[in-house]
Amino acid sequence: MKTPHALRLALLSSCVFAATHAGAHDLPLGDGAISTTPQIDNVYSCQTRFGGGGAFRDGGWINGDTWDSDLKPVVDGAIDWPSEIAISREGDARVIRANNLPDHPTGVFGIQPSDDAYAYDRNPNRIRAQNILLTLPAKPTAAAEESCVPMGMIGFATSGAAIFNALDALGRDAPAHEIQDACNGHPERNGQYHYHDLSACLTDTRNEAHGHSDLAGYALDGFGIYGLHGEDGEVVTNADLDACHGHVHTVIWDGEPTEIYHYHFTEEYPYTIGCFHGTPTQLRTGRGMAAGPDIDGPNGLAPGAPAGPRALRAPPPRRHLFGRPLFRPPLRGYERRG
Ligand SMILES: [Zn+2]
Ligand SMILES: [Zn+2]
Repeated sequence: MKTPHALRLALLSSCVFAATHAGAHDLPLGDGAISTTPQIDNVYSCQTRFGGGGAFRDGGWINGDTWDSDLKPVVDGAIDWPSEIAISREGDARVIRANNLPDHPTGVFGIQPSDDAYAYDRNPNRIRAQNILLTLPAKPTAAAEESCVPMGMIGFATSGAAIFNALDALGRDAPAHEIQDACNGHPERNGQYHYHDLSACLTDTRNEAHGHSDLAGYALDGFGIYGLHGEDGEVVTNADLDACHGHVHTVIWDGEPTEIYHYHFTEEYPYTIGCFHGTPTQLRTGRGMAAGPDIDGPNGLAPGAPAGPRALRAPPPRRHLFGRPLFRPPLRGYERRG
């Protein structure tokens, strides 16, 4: 299957995404594929009732029960960030400290009225540094039972961005409906920059010997999340994976070939992980702790209503990133969940 990611990366600095090019392909639309037990092709979602802001209009890239990622607009811009991420082994733990600013450029958020994306999605949120401190098991093990994935952060990418599940605030297929930047990311209402699928800017490097993707991030249960390529370099599909979107075989783990469970990003829904195979770490919740629901969009904003992007460029990075949690006042005006 042809990957759209290289194409999107090439278009990173372009201002307008031209929706006319060869190589288009269809992906199954994941809308409605939400389960209350582990089920392949589904998100086993902790949240089953949805209502919130998000993209308010679909475009021609959605056709019935399929969508074409090559045809979807992207949020314009290429802003560089002072990304900070450190991943260390500390005893039995793997500790991730990060400011959640990605090591690649992002689009301009809130989405500007001059942006073609604005016709579909008026995400008014600005990207803001977060205080990420994740303590994960360094040697994760299977839980007695798989568990559901919450809204908000379910993993963290090596690029410094958070990983969310496949759902937008309305419970729909987020990569299909939401307009993200050229790196497949966007901020939720606390400003947390995140992906719902493999970022075009998270280079899917592969092991030279066997072609398996390299590690791309960690799920909150400590298991690794790898790129699109599985054993022998084949592109992984849901059929190769269990309900949680993982499988067991030998991968490079902590620098060593290790037979271990791991997740994969896929091109098809649910894109990231469908449930937790291990026991997820409990996130401390509170403002600034980046553990809130995926309130991506212009919450409570009716189509056609004036949106409120406040700034062209992001605020300066905050200090004290690795100390106490950064508590900050909530964004005003978009707190309601539609
Ligand atoms: Zn694999
Ligand atoms: Zn999102």
